[in-house]
Amino acid sequence: MKTTTLIVLTITLFSSCRNKTELGKQIETTESVKIKQGVKLYVLDGGSILANKLEIFSQDTTYTGQTKQMADAYYVIAHPKGNLIWDAGLPENLVGQQPYTDPSGAFTVSRKDSLKNQLASIGFKISDFKYIALSHLHFDHVGHANNFKNATWLVQENEYNFIANDSIKVKNEDIYNSIKELTNIKKLNGDFDVFGDGTVIIKTMPGHTIGHQVLYVEAGFDNPILLTGDLYHFEENRKNKGVPSFNHNVEQTLKSMTSFEAFAKEKNAEVIIQHSQKDFNRLQNLLKK
Ligand SMILES: [Zn+2]
Repeated sequence: MKTTTLIVLTITLFSSCRNKTELGKQIETTESVKIKQGVKLYVLDGGSILANKLEIFSQDTTYTGQTKQMADAYYVIAHPKGNLIWDAGLPENLVGQQPYTDPSGAFTVSRKDSLKNQLASIGFKISDFKYIALSHLHFDHVGHANNFKNATWLVQENEYNFIANDSIKVKNEDIYNSIKELTNIKKLNGDFDVFGDGTVIIKTMPGHTIGHQVLYVEAGFDNPILLTGDLYHFEENRKNKGVPSFNHNVEQTLKSMTSFEAFAKEKNAEVIIQHSQKDFNRLQNLLKK
């Protein structure tokens, strides 16, 4: 996405978010897991993406001529030791505007509501967050990140260095500008247990970008939740281990897919593909139970 998107005026109105939900009511019985009662997960709508050229999500011609409507979710994880926001949706200046198509024609994007309204709809304020973590630094995951300048940004060191590199910074100006106000930075080199109790773990899964990561959350539900970031974009990608043409490293992506699946199996986790509209709806339903 280029600067044209960012020229669109910011309008923060519209109704409160419909896509809110929470998880975490199950009663745990043993002392060691009691804290999990207090962990809650919410899913919010960071916008919608129409992939006009689905073939870019493959190394070959598998999807030539196809299009796909994708979700762009972000998540709130409330923990007794603080709150974490995972990913940051599309730019807020899309709110109230007509859908925007990027100059290459690959994507048409839109966003219905602002961060502030969406957080208010689940009883949160921007200042309530101790941590922000982004699965990776692409335009559809960094949209409202700058709002969290008082939070600590949990980022893989190589991902940070990549975007902060002077030449890259210029090349990817929009993305750099979306995160430049995050100055409380904790650079990670691998997995990170955010609250030290095993309930919320950032897992390093490089390949889509150099420091791409996914999130494991135990929110007192039957199965833990595993949020994919952009390791997969839709169901077929997961089934066929399809690697998009724009990934940083194909081999690394495939390796991450293998360790992701092994981890998901080990934990008996519910895998949620963040861009899947189906999974967005499925998670909402799951969290309502
Ligand atoms: Zn994405």
